[in-house]
Amino acid sequence: MSSTETALVLGGGVGGLVSAVELRKRLPAADRVVLVDRRQRYLFDPSLLWLMTGLRTPEKITRPLARLRLKGIEVVSGEIEHIDADARRVSVDGQELVGENVIVSLGAEYAPETVPGLAAAGHNFYSLPGAEGLRDALRGFGGGRLVVLTATPAYKCPAAPYEAAMLLEYHCRKRKIRDDVQIDLYAAEPGPMGVAGPEVSAGVRGMVEARQIGYHPEHQVERVDHAAGRIFFTNGAWADFDLLAYVPPHRAPEVVRESGLADETGWIPVDRHSLETGRPHVYAIGDVTTIPLRLGKPLPKAGVFAHAEALVVATNIARSITGKGRPASFEGRGQCFVETGDGKAAMARGDFYAEPVPQLKLHRAGRRWHAAKILFERNWLRKWF
Ligand SMILES: Cc1cc2nc3c(=O)[nH]c(=O)nc-3n(C[C@H](O)[C@H](O)[C@H](O)COP(=O)(O)OP(=O)(O)OC[C@H]3O[C@@H](n4cnc5c(N)ncnc54)[C@H](O)[C@@H]3O)c2cc1C
Repeated sequence: MSSTETALVLGGGVGGLVSAVELRKRLPAADRVVLVDRRQRYLFDPSLLWLMTGLRTPEKITRPLARLRLKGIEVVSGEIEHIDADARRVSVDGQELVGENVIVSLGAEYAPETVPGLAAAGHNFYSLPGAEGLRDALRGFGGGRLVVLTATPAYKCPAAPYEAAMLLEYHCRKRKIRDDVQIDLYAAEPGPMGVAGPEVSAGVRGMVEARQIGYHPEHQVERVDHAAGRIFFTNGAWADFDLLAYVPPHRAPEVVRESGLADETGWIPVDRHSLETGRPHVYAIGDVTTIPLRLGKPLPKAGVFAHAEALVVATNIARSITGKGRPASFEGRGQCFVETGDGKAAMARGDFYAEPVPQLKLHRAGRRWHAAKILFERNWLRKWF
Protein backbone atom coordinates (compact mmCIF):
# COMPACT_ATOMS: atom_id res chain seq x y z
CA MET A 1 0.00 0.00 0.00
CA SER A 2 1.35 3.45 -0.90
CA SER A 3 1.77 6.08 1.81
CA THR A 4 -0.59 8.34 -0.12
CA GLU A 5 -4.00 6.85 -0.70
CA THR A 6 -6.37 7.57 -3.56
CA ALA A 7 -10.14 7.31 -3.21
CA LEU A 8 -11.75 6.95 -6.61
CA VAL A 9 -15.36 8.12 -6.75
CA LEU A 10 -17.16 7.02 -9.90
CA GLY A 11 -20.09 9.35 -10.63
CA GLY A 12 -20.79 12.93 -9.65
CA GLY A 13 -24.49 12.65 -8.90
CA VAL A 14 -25.95 12.57 -5.39
CA GLY A 15 -23.92 9.63 -4.06
CA GLY A 16 -20.64 10.58 -5.73
CA LEU A 17 -20.88 14.21 -4.74
CA VAL A 18 -21.59 13.51 -1.08
CA SER A 19 -18.91 10.78 -0.83
CA ALA A 20 -16.24 12.94 -2.44
CA VAL A 21 -16.93 16.00 -0.29
CA GLU A 22 -17.13 13.94 2.92
CA LEU A 23 -13.94 12.02 2.09
CA ARG A 24 -12.12 15.25 1.35
CA LYS A 25 -13.16 16.59 4.76
CA ARG A 26 -12.05 13.47 6.60
CA LEU A 27 -8.87 12.33 4.82
CA PRO A 28 -5.38 13.76 5.36
CA ALA A 29 -4.55 16.47 2.82
CA ALA A 30 -1.90 14.27 1.16
CA ASP A 31 -4.51 11.67 0.19
CA ARG A 32 -6.27 12.14 -3.11
CA VAL A 33 -9.99 12.20 -3.73
CA VAL A 34 -10.71 11.80 -7.45
CA LEU A 35 -14.26 12.15 -8.79
CA VAL A 36 -15.08 11.07 -12.35
CA ASP A 37 -18.19 11.99 -14.33
CA ARG A 38 -19.04 12.47 -17.98
CA ARG A 39 -21.26 15.43 -17.11
CA GLN A 40 -19.85 18.90 -16.67
CA ARG A 41 -22.73 20.02 -14.47
CA TYR A 42 -24.45 18.39 -11.52
CA LEU A 43 -28.26 18.38 -11.87
CA PHE A 44 -30.60 18.52 -8.87
CA ASP A 45 -33.11 15.98 -10.24
CA PRO A 46 -36.09 16.71 -7.92
CA SER A 47 -36.39 20.21 -9.41
CA LEU A 48 -37.02 18.81 -12.91
CA LEU A 49 -40.66 18.67 -11.82
CA TRP A 50 -40.63 22.43 -11.25
CA LEU A 51 -38.62 23.05 -14.41
CA MET A 52 -41.18 21.27 -16.61
CA THR A 53 -43.94 23.58 -15.37
CA GLY A 54 -41.78 26.68 -15.89
CA LEU A 55 -40.91 27.27 -12.22
CA ARG A 56 -37.15 26.72 -12.60
CA THR A 57 -34.45 27.29 -15.20
CA PRO A 58 -31.57 24.87 -15.91
CA GLU A 59 -29.09 27.41 -14.49
CA LYS A 60 -30.97 27.48 -11.21
CA ILE A 61 -30.87 23.70 -10.67
CA THR A 62 -27.41 22.77 -11.99
CA ARG A 63 -23.90 23.48 -10.74
CA PRO A 64 -20.46 23.01 -12.38
CA LEU A 65 -18.75 19.90 -11.02
CA ALA A 66 -15.43 21.68 -11.60
CA ARG A 67 -16.31 23.87 -8.61
CA LEU A 68 -15.46 20.88 -6.39
CA ARG A 69 -11.80 21.54 -7.22
CA LEU A 70 -11.99 24.50 -4.84
CA LYS A 71 -12.61 21.97 -2.08
CA GLY A 72 -9.49 20.00 -3.03
CA ILE A 73 -11.27 17.28 -5.01
CA GLU A 74 -9.70 16.24 -8.32
CA VAL A 75 -12.50 16.30 -10.89
CA VAL A 76 -11.98 14.22 -14.02
CA SER A 77 -14.43 14.89 -16.86
CA GLY A 78 -14.88 11.93 -19.12
CA GLU A 79 -16.53 8.66 -20.01
CA ILE A 80 -15.73 5.70 -17.75
CA GLU A 81 -15.22 2.99 -20.34
CA HIS A 82 -14.04 0.08 -18.24
CA ILE A 83 -14.03 -0.92 -14.56
CA ASP A 84 -11.61 -3.57 -13.33
CA ALA A 85 -13.06 -4.17 -9.88
CA ASP A 86 -10.33 -6.58 -8.74
CA ALA A 87 -7.51 -4.20 -9.66
CA ARG A 88 -9.61 -1.16 -8.55
CA ARG A 89 -8.70 0.41 -11.86
CA VAL A 90 -10.87 2.30 -14.33
CA SER A 91 -10.32 3.59 -17.80
CA VAL A 92 -11.60 7.12 -18.54
CA ASP A 93 -11.37 8.21 -22.17
CA GLY A 94 -8.31 5.97 -22.47
CA GLN A 95 -6.65 7.24 -19.28
CA GLU A 96 -6.10 4.72 -16.44
CA LEU A 97 -7.01 5.67 -12.87
CA VAL A 98 -6.31 3.46 -9.85
CA GLY A 99 -7.51 3.78 -6.26
CA GLU A 100 -6.97 2.03 -2.94
CA ASN A 101 -10.71 2.53 -2.42
CA VAL A 102 -13.36 2.77 -5.12
CA ILE A 103 -16.94 4.00 -4.72
CA VAL A 104 -19.28 3.20 -7.61
CA SER A 105 -22.16 5.68 -7.76
CA LEU A 106 -22.99 5.62 -11.44
CA GLY A 107 -26.76 5.74 -11.07
CA ALA A 108 -29.25 4.35 -13.58
CA GLU A 109 -29.28 4.94 -17.32
CA TYR A 110 -32.48 5.41 -19.29
CA ALA A 111 -33.52 3.03 -22.05
CA PRO A 112 -36.60 4.54 -23.76
CA GLU A 113 -35.59 2.85 -27.01
CA THR A 114 -36.58 -0.52 -25.54
CA VAL A 115 -40.25 0.51 -25.97
CA PRO A 116 -40.97 0.94 -29.69
CA GLY A 117 -42.16 4.45 -30.52
CA LEU A 118 -41.88 5.84 -26.98
CA ALA A 119 -38.91 8.23 -27.37
CA ALA A 120 -40.28 9.86 -30.52
CA ALA A 121 -43.79 10.27 -29.15
CA GLY A 122 -43.27 11.70 -25.68
CA HIS A 123 -41.17 13.71 -23.26
CA ASN A 124 -38.88 11.96 -20.80
CA PHE A 125 -39.27 14.35 -17.89
CA TYR A 126 -36.65 12.35 -15.91
CA SER A 127 -33.97 14.06 -18.03
CA LEU A 128 -33.11 17.74 -18.44
CA PRO A 129 -33.75 17.86 -22.22
CA GLY A 130 -36.99 15.90 -21.76
CA ALA A 131 -38.25 18.21 -18.99
CA GLU A 132 -37.36 21.24 -21.13
CA GLY A 133 -39.16 19.69 -24.10
CA LEU A 134 -42.26 19.13 -21.99
CA ARG A 135 -42.12 22.71 -20.69
CA ASP A 136 -41.96 24.02 -24.28
CA ALA A 137 -44.77 21.72 -25.47
CA LEU A 138 -46.97 22.83 -22.56
CA ARG A 139 -46.64 26.44 -23.70
CA GLY A 140 -48.41 25.57 -26.93
CA PHE A 141 -50.89 23.17 -25.33
CA GLY A 142 -54.35 24.67 -25.11
CA GLY A 143 -56.33 21.53 -24.36
CA GLY A 144 -56.63 17.83 -25.14
CA ARG A 145 -55.53 14.53 -23.64
CA LEU A 146 -52.47 14.71 -21.40
CA VAL A 147 -51.03 11.35 -20.38
CA VAL A 148 -48.36 10.61 -17.76
CA LEU A 149 -46.91 7.12 -18.24
CA THR A 150 -44.53 4.91 -16.27
CA ALA A 151 -42.92 2.51 -18.74
CA THR A 152 -41.89 -0.08 -16.11
CA PRO A 153 -43.02 -0.76 -12.53
CA ALA A 154 -39.64 0.11 -10.94
CA TYR A 155 -37.93 3.47 -11.42
CA LYS A 156 -36.09 6.00 -9.30
CA CYS A 157 -38.07 8.27 -7.01
CA PRO A 158 -41.36 6.35 -6.99
CA ALA A 159 -43.26 9.52 -6.02
CA ALA A 160 -42.13 11.54 -9.05
CA PRO A 161 -44.69 10.51 -11.72
CA TYR A 162 -47.52 11.05 -9.23
CA GLU A 163 -46.12 14.45 -8.32
CA ALA A 164 -45.73 15.21 -12.04
CA ALA A 165 -49.38 14.40 -12.74
CA MET A 166 -50.56 16.62 -9.86
CA LEU A 167 -48.22 19.49 -10.80
CA LEU A 168 -49.38 19.30 -14.42
CA GLU A 169 -52.99 19.38 -13.23
CA TYR A 170 -52.27 22.48 -11.13
CA HIS A 171 -50.43 24.06 -14.05
CA CYS A 172 -53.53 23.59 -16.27
CA ARG A 173 -55.74 25.14 -13.59
CA LYS A 174 -53.43 28.14 -13.24
CA ARG A 175 -53.54 28.61 -17.01
CA LYS A 176 -57.36 28.28 -16.89
CA ILE A 177 -57.38 25.43 -19.40
CA ARG A 178 -58.19 22.65 -16.93
CA ASP A 179 -61.76 22.19 -18.23
CA ASP A 180 -60.32 21.49 -21.67
CA VAL A 181 -57.70 18.99 -20.52
CA GLN A 182 -58.22 15.33 -19.69
CA ILE A 183 -55.37 14.02 -17.53
CA ASP A 184 -54.61 10.33 -17.11
CA LEU A 185 -51.79 8.47 -15.39
CA TYR A 186 -51.07 5.02 -16.82
CA ALA A 187 -48.78 3.10 -14.48
CA ALA A 188 -46.99 -0.20 -15.03
CA GLU A 189 -47.00 -0.77 -11.24
CA PRO A 190 -50.02 -1.95 -9.19
CA GLY A 191 -50.17 1.26 -7.14
CA PRO A 192 -48.22 4.35 -6.13
CA MET A 193 -45.06 3.89 -4.05
CA GLY A 194 -45.76 0.22 -3.34
CA VAL A 195 -42.71 -0.42 -1.15
CA ALA A 196 -43.80 2.36 1.21
CA GLY A 197 -46.81 0.25 2.21
CA PRO A 198 -50.59 0.29 1.73
CA GLU A 199 -51.27 3.43 3.80
CA VAL A 200 -48.89 5.61 1.80
CA SER A 201 -49.95 4.02 -1.50
CA ALA A 202 -53.67 4.58 -0.87
CA GLY A 203 -52.99 8.11 0.38
CA VAL A 204 -51.11 9.11 -2.78
CA ARG A 205 -53.67 7.44 -5.03
CA GLY A 206 -56.41 9.37 -3.20
CA MET A 207 -54.60 12.68 -3.76
CA VAL A 208 -54.24 11.95 -7.48
CA GLU A 209 -57.87 10.90 -7.97
CA ALA A 210 -59.19 13.85 -5.93
CA ARG A 211 -57.80 16.04 -8.71
CA GLN A 212 -59.86 14.21 -11.35
CA ILE A 213 -56.77 12.59 -12.77
CA GLY A 214 -57.71 9.19 -14.22
CA TYR A 215 -55.49 6.56 -12.60
CA HIS A 216 -54.87 3.29 -14.47
CA PRO A 217 -52.45 0.97 -12.63
CA GLU A 218 -51.03 -2.30 -14.02
CA HIS A 219 -50.88 -1.01 -17.58
CA GLN A 220 -47.61 -2.18 -19.08
CA VAL A 221 -46.81 -0.26 -22.26
CA GLU A 222 -45.99 -2.41 -25.29
CA ARG A 223 -45.52 0.22 -27.99
CA VAL A 224 -46.50 3.75 -28.89
CA ASP A 225 -47.82 4.90 -32.26
CA HIS A 226 -46.53 8.45 -32.55
CA ALA A 227 -48.48 9.37 -35.69
CA ALA A 228 -51.78 8.12 -34.27
CA GLY A 229 -51.05 9.46 -30.76
CA ARG A 230 -51.93 6.08 -29.26
CA ILE A 231 -50.31 3.93 -26.54
CA PHE A 232 -50.81 0.16 -26.71
CA PHE A 233 -50.59 -1.90 -23.52
CA THR A 234 -49.77 -5.59 -23.07
CA ASN A 235 -53.23 -6.23 -21.56
CA GLY A 236 -54.90 -5.26 -24.86
CA ALA A 237 -55.97 -1.78 -23.71
CA TRP A 238 -54.94 1.40 -25.49
CA ALA A 239 -54.98 5.11 -24.68
CA ASP A 240 -54.93 8.19 -26.91
CA PHE A 241 -52.88 11.27 -26.11
CA ASP A 242 -52.12 14.72 -27.43
CA LEU A 243 -49.25 15.26 -25.01
CA LEU A 244 -47.26 12.42 -23.44
CA ALA A 245 -44.91 12.72 -20.45
CA TYR A 246 -43.17 9.49 -19.50
CA VAL A 247 -40.80 7.81 -17.07
CA PRO A 248 -38.44 5.64 -19.16
CA PRO A 249 -37.24 2.10 -18.42
CA HIS A 250 -34.07 2.15 -16.29
CA ARG A 251 -31.01 -0.11 -16.30
CA ALA A 252 -27.51 0.02 -14.84
CA PRO A 253 -25.01 1.90 -17.04
CA GLU A 254 -23.33 -0.32 -19.64
CA VAL A 255 -19.90 0.01 -18.00
CA VAL A 256 -21.39 -1.43 -14.80
CA ARG A 257 -23.22 -4.24 -16.56
CA GLU A 258 -19.91 -5.24 -18.17
CA SER A 259 -17.83 -4.91 -14.99
CA GLY A 260 -18.84 -8.19 -13.41
CA LEU A 261 -20.15 -6.28 -10.38
CA ALA A 262 -23.84 -6.60 -11.31
CA ASP A 263 -25.89 -9.73 -10.54
CA GLU A 264 -28.83 -11.29 -12.39
CA THR A 265 -31.04 -8.31 -11.46
CA GLY A 266 -28.72 -6.15 -13.57
CA TRP A 267 -27.75 -4.03 -10.55
CA ILE A 268 -24.89 -4.29 -8.03
CA PRO A 269 -25.71 -6.32 -4.90
CA VAL A 270 -24.22 -4.82 -1.73
CA ASP A 271 -24.20 -5.40 1.99
CA ARG A 272 -27.30 -3.54 3.19
CA HIS A 273 -25.45 -1.81 6.04
CA SER A 274 -21.87 -1.27 4.79
CA LEU A 275 -22.48 -1.03 1.00
CA GLU A 276 -19.52 -3.34 0.40
CA THR A 277 -19.68 -5.18 -2.92
CA GLY A 278 -17.76 -8.27 -1.90
CA ARG A 279 -14.66 -7.10 -3.81
CA PRO A 280 -12.16 -5.71 -1.28
CA HIS A 281 -12.33 -1.91 -0.95
CA VAL A 282 -14.97 -1.57 -3.68
CA TYR A 283 -18.27 -0.05 -2.57
CA ALA A 284 -21.44 0.71 -4.51
CA ILE A 285 -24.11 3.20 -3.47
CA GLY A 286 -27.30 4.77 -4.77
CA ASP A 287 -29.37 3.86 -7.80
CA VAL A 288 -26.81 1.43 -9.24
CA THR A 289 -27.28 -0.98 -6.32
CA THR A 290 -29.90 -3.55 -5.45
CA ILE A 291 -30.78 -4.14 -1.80
CA PRO A 292 -33.51 -6.78 -1.38
CA LEU A 293 -36.12 -6.21 1.35
CA ARG A 294 -38.02 -8.94 3.17
CA LEU A 295 -41.26 -8.12 1.31
CA GLY A 296 -39.63 -9.32 -1.91
CA LYS A 297 -38.99 -5.98 -3.55
CA PRO A 298 -35.74 -4.01 -3.48
CA LEU A 299 -35.13 -0.76 -1.62
CA PRO A 300 -36.44 2.00 -3.92
CA LYS A 301 -33.94 4.09 -5.83
CA ALA A 302 -33.86 7.58 -4.34
CA GLY A 303 -31.44 10.39 -3.66
CA VAL A 304 -32.19 10.27 0.06
CA PHE A 305 -30.68 6.77 0.17
CA ALA A 306 -27.74 7.59 -2.12
CA HIS A 307 -26.96 10.48 0.23
CA ALA A 308 -27.14 8.42 3.44
CA GLU A 309 -25.17 5.55 1.91
CA ALA A 310 -22.45 7.96 0.75
CA LEU A 311 -22.03 9.28 4.30
CA VAL A 312 -21.67 5.73 5.61
CA VAL A 313 -19.08 4.68 3.03
CA ALA A 314 -17.06 7.91 3.32
CA THR A 315 -17.00 7.60 7.11
CA ASN A 316 -15.86 3.99 7.03
CA ILE A 317 -13.18 4.52 4.37
CA ALA A 318 -11.79 7.52 6.27
CA ARG A 319 -11.83 5.52 9.49
CA SER A 320 -9.93 2.65 7.86
CA ILE A 321 -7.21 5.11 6.79
CA THR A 322 -7.02 7.47 9.77
CA GLY A 323 -8.22 5.18 12.56
CA LYS A 324 -10.48 8.03 13.71
CA GLY A 325 -14.23 8.13 14.17
CA ARG A 326 -16.89 5.50 14.79
CA PRO A 327 -17.97 2.89 12.25
CA ALA A 328 -21.12 3.90 10.38
CA SER A 329 -24.00 1.74 9.20
CA PHE A 330 -26.83 2.44 6.72
CA GLU A 331 -30.12 1.72 8.47
CA GLY A 332 -32.64 2.17 5.64
CA ARG A 333 -34.43 5.26 6.87
CA GLY A 334 -35.72 7.71 4.32
CA GLN A 335 -38.17 10.40 3.50
CA CYS A 336 -39.78 11.88 0.45
CA PHE A 337 -41.72 15.04 -0.32
CA VAL A 338 -44.79 14.52 -2.50
CA GLU A 339 -45.65 17.72 -4.38
CA THR A 340 -49.40 18.04 -4.90
CA GLY A 341 -49.75 21.44 -6.60
CA ASP A 342 -51.44 24.53 -5.09
CA GLY A 343 -48.13 25.34 -3.38
CA LYS A 344 -48.48 22.26 -1.16
CA ALA A 345 -46.69 18.97 -0.59
CA ALA A 346 -47.14 15.88 1.54
CA MET A 347 -44.33 13.97 3.19
CA ALA A 348 -43.75 10.20 3.47
CA ARG A 349 -41.07 9.00 5.86
CA GLY A 350 -40.02 6.03 7.86
CA ASP A 351 -37.96 2.88 8.10
CA PHE A 352 -37.54 0.80 4.95
CA TYR A 353 -35.51 -1.87 6.78
CA ALA A 354 -38.29 -2.53 9.32
CA GLU A 355 -39.31 -6.20 9.47
CA PRO A 356 -41.37 -7.81 8.11
CA VAL A 357 -42.44 -4.77 6.06
CA PRO A 358 -41.29 -1.13 5.82
CA GLN A 359 -42.97 1.22 8.29
CA LEU A 360 -43.82 4.61 6.79
CA LYS A 361 -46.18 7.41 7.61
CA LEU A 362 -47.73 9.84 5.15
CA HIS A 363 -48.01 13.37 6.55
CA ARG A 364 -50.90 15.39 5.14
CA ALA A 365 -50.30 17.79 2.29
CA GLY A 366 -49.78 21.37 3.35
CA ARG A 367 -47.83 24.52 2.63
CA ARG A 368 -45.11 23.77 5.16
CA TRP A 369 -43.84 20.64 3.37
CA HIS A 370 -43.73 22.56 0.09
CA ALA A 371 -41.77 25.34 1.81
CA ALA A 372 -39.48 22.70 3.33
CA LYS A 373 -38.82 21.26 -0.15
CA ILE A 374 -37.86 24.69 -1.50
CA LEU A 375 -35.54 25.16 1.46
CA PHE A 376 -34.06 21.71 0.94
CA GLU A 377 -33.27 22.51 -2.70
CA ARG A 378 -31.56 25.77 -1.75
CA ASN A 379 -29.58 24.31 1.15
CA TRP A 380 -28.54 21.23 -0.82
CA LEU A 381 -27.03 23.21 -3.67
CA ARG A 382 -25.41 25.64 -1.25
CA LYS A 383 -23.96 22.95 1.00
CA TRP A 384 -22.31 20.75 -1.62
CA PHE A 385 -21.08 23.46 -4.05
C1 LIG B 1 -37.67 13.86 -11.72
C2 LIG B 1 -36.94 13.26 -10.56
C3 LIG B 1 -37.29 13.61 -9.26
C4 LIG B 1 -36.65 13.05 -8.17
N1 LIG B 1 -37.02 13.43 -6.92
C5 LIG B 1 -36.40 12.86 -5.86
C6 LIG B 1 -36.78 13.24 -4.52
O1 LIG B 1 -37.66 14.10 -4.32
N2 LIG B 1 -36.16 12.61 -3.50
C7 LIG B 1 -35.19 11.66 -3.69
O2 LIG B 1 -34.68 11.13 -2.71
N3 LIG B 1 -34.82 11.29 -4.93
C8 LIG B 1 -35.38 11.86 -6.01
N4 LIG B 1 -35.00 11.50 -7.28
C9 LIG B 1 -34.02 10.40 -7.45
C10 LIG B 1 -32.59 10.85 -7.28
O3 LIG B 1 -32.29 11.93 -8.14
C11 LIG B 1 -31.64 9.68 -7.56
O4 LIG B 1 -32.06 8.58 -6.81
C12 LIG B 1 -30.21 10.05 -7.21
O5 LIG B 1 -29.74 11.03 -8.09
C13 LIG B 1 -29.31 8.83 -7.23
O6 LIG B 1 -27.98 9.21 -6.99
P1 LIG B 1 -26.79 8.34 -7.62
O7 LIG B 1 -25.52 8.97 -7.16
O8 LIG B 1 -27.02 6.92 -7.36
O9 LIG B 1 -26.95 8.54 -9.21
P2 LIG B 1 -26.99 9.86 -10.07
O10 LIG B 1 -27.32 11.03 -9.24
O11 LIG B 1 -27.87 9.56 -11.23
O12 LIG B 1 -25.48 10.03 -10.57
C14 LIG B 1 -24.88 9.13 -11.46
C15 LIG B 1 -23.77 9.86 -12.19
O13 LIG B 1 -22.95 8.92 -12.89
C16 LIG B 1 -22.57 9.49 -14.13
N5 LIG B 1 -22.23 8.39 -15.06
C17 LIG B 1 -22.95 7.28 -15.33
N6 LIG B 1 -22.28 6.49 -16.18
C18 LIG B 1 -21.12 7.09 -16.44
C19 LIG B 1 -19.98 6.75 -17.25
N7 LIG B 1 -19.92 5.60 -17.94
N8 LIG B 1 -18.94 7.62 -17.29
C20 LIG B 1 -18.96 8.78 -16.59
N9 LIG B 1 -20.00 9.15 -15.81
C21 LIG B 1 -21.06 8.31 -15.74
C22 LIG B 1 -23.79 10.27 -14.57
O14 LIG B 1 -23.43 11.28 -15.50
C23 LIG B 1 -24.30 10.84 -13.24
O15 LIG B 1 -23.82 12.14 -13.00
C24 LIG B 1 -35.61 12.09 -8.39
C25 LIG B 1 -35.25 11.76 -9.69
C26 LIG B 1 -35.89 12.33 -10.76
C27 LIG B 1 -35.46 11.96 -12.17
